[in-house]
Amino acid sequence: MRETLVLNASFEPLATVTLRRAVVLVLQGKAVVEHAHPGLRIRATAVELPVPLVIRLCRYVRVPFRRQAPWSRRGVLVRDRNRCAYCGRRATTVDHLVPRSHGGADSWLNTVAACAEDNHRKADRTPEQAGMKLLSEPFVPTPADAMLLALGGGAAEAELPQWLSLSV
Ligand SMILES: [Zn+2]
Repeated sequence: MRETLVLNASFEPLATVTLRRAVVLVLQGKAVVEHAHPGLRIRATAVELPVPLVIRLCRYVRVPFRRQAPWSRRGVLVRDRNRCAYCGRRATTVDHLVPRSHGGADSWLNTVAACAEDNHRKADRTPEQAGMKLLSEPFVPTPADAMLLALGGGAAEAELPQWLSLSV
């Protein structure tokens, strides 16, 4: 998939995102196209756009560039696309793998999104102790994820409008 460079409002490079994500940021009015692919257009329902190579955010966001994104509960839910790490259903809570009562940290690698049911079932135990399997391992978000979080986005790639799986 083609990648698009994202500049901060101050023109400082922030991250690269997928073309799909770049188009959505432009359509949402959160970014403007700085450089486009010569001659290529994107056609989607009632919209036509140049294929962006570089976009620039309309509003300055404070993002730790190439550093770790600061941990937050909302960030964990966004990272995990609101899917429970244990059963894959919709998650509304954040579970600490090593419970906080046992010294578990508020960190990207120690937390996963979880549905209230599984969070309650796991209780004050590690997944091993509770006999619960993780569907995927927690990870530290990339600079692009951090930027999208700072933008107040959060719609995961999979939740973007389908018409953007587009004709370039
Ligand atoms: Zn669950």
